[in-house]
Amino acid sequence: MSRTRYGVGPWAVLAPPTTKAFPTKPDVETADVVVVGAGLTGILTATALKAAGHAVVLLEAGRVGAGHSRAASGLTGMLVTADYRTLEATHGRKIARALMSAVTTAAATLTSGLAKAKIPGAGDTRPLLALAEPVKGWDRDVAARTAAGLTAATVTGAAFAKATTADAPAAMRLGGVGLAEPSRIVTGAITRLASARVKVCEKSPVTRITFTRVDATVHVGSHTIVTPRVVICTDAPGALAPTLDRHTRGFERYHVLTAPMPAAMRKAVKLGATVLADTSVPLAVTATADGRLLVSGGDGPIPAVKQRAAAQLHHTGELMYEVLKRFPVIMGLRPEFGWSTPVVAGPDRFPLIGPHRQYPHQLFSFGTDRDPALAWMASRMLTRAVAHETDAADEAFGFSRVQEERH
Ligand SMILES: Cc1cc2nc3c(=O)[nH]c(=O)nc-3n(C[C@H](O)[C@H](O)[C@H](O)COP(=O)(O)OP(=O)(O)OC[C@H]3O[C@@H](n4cnc5c(N)ncnc54)[C@H](O)[C@@H]3O)c2cc1C
Repeated sequence: MSRTRYGVGPWAVLAPPTTKAFPTKPDVETADVVVVGAGLTGILTATALKAAGHAVVLLEAGRVGAGHSRAASGLTGMLVTADYRTLEATHGRKIARALMSAVTTAAATLTSGLAKAKIPGAGDTRPLLALAEPVKGWDRDVAARTAAGLTAATVTGAAFAKATTADAPAAMRLGGVGLAEPSRIVTGAITRLASARVKVCEKSPVTRITFTRVDATVHVGSHTIVTPRVVICTDAPGALAPTLDRHTRGFERYHVLTAPMPAAMRKAVKLGATVLADTSVPLAVTATADGRLLVSGGDGPIPAVKQRAAAQLHHTGELMYEVLKRFPVIMGLRPEFGWSTPVVAGPDRFPLIGPHRQYPHQLFSFGTDRDPALAWMASRMLTRAVAHETDAADEAFGFSRVQEERH
């Protein structure tokens, strides 16, 4: 029996990082737009901006598409499990509904967008069952979502037993999550980026961005690029927007992909077309097309580099134990991969996408939940923002919803 591979995600093994190399020295002094960070969001944004007719430069500190985007769990649209009533109490119905309906359609939008762009790895979309028992007031959450016109239903009794064999009394059925192959998507997006002839420079960390009222200057070491627009897709504010760090938090999320389940076990867990979420752990579990269990969750503090391997062993073991509690039939099922990713989130779990009043030439994308569907959504919002075509739903994702910005 082979051992579990820790620290490496299966998607990156199936679709390894491209060997395509991009130039390492920026050779332009001006651009219509400079995109910083070539994770999935930056790659998709730069490509879309180029297609819209802009002279774009994409700058990446390391290698293009080699960051954590490839190591994501593969589950998309999981923000639908956020507590809707808290979201509405914090932001009001209009913003809460806009946030929730955007993430509910994000997985399907990714699937159709990737098909149109001929990028493989989109996977499928499937309904999500959030186990009701651990969610306090889950029936009121269903009522609040329904009142706001969002998709939510209660599943109990025979319907619940038909949908899943999980040991729980009821669930909320929420729409629109998916299962994608993040690394394959990143590879396809890089191919498209290259053929769109976007000016890309890797190993080119942006060290500083200075600005006047007229334009911004992007510093890559001693080289500078002057531009009216900078789109920052680094997922976390870091040194490029230090005053925005207070709006994001970082944590570690753990993932397991098991060996293929025997046919009888597959039939018994019934997860081939459903994602099950237990928000008390939290975890999400589903079965892949080849009958493996994919488990993601156990969000916790980011471990020190030295403790990362031990944390992966411990937390992925815990995730398997939690799934075993719900599905005793999986006893003996072996994890094949156990890995983790740092995740960045806004104060309400949702990403922050758009301009900020302290930074007149910058647009930001922070906290896309390591979700290719949210990276796709962010790239479209950022492209609209550059064209001044932002709509009301886009504005809900902006910094104005962060409480202290209102005063
Ligand atoms: C409070 C807090 C603490 C955190 N602590 C940690 C931690 O201890 N350890 C940890 O691993 N993560 C931590 N994170 C998460 C981490 O900051 C993000 O996950 C990471 O910045 C995203 O980069 P990525 O490689 O995952 O890239 P992706 O999301 O794939 O894309 C972002 C891309 O931007 C590029 N990039 C970043 N900065 C620049 C720059 N200046 N110029 C050009 N390109 C750039 C990256 O190389 C990367 O390719 C923390 C986050 C927060 C909010």
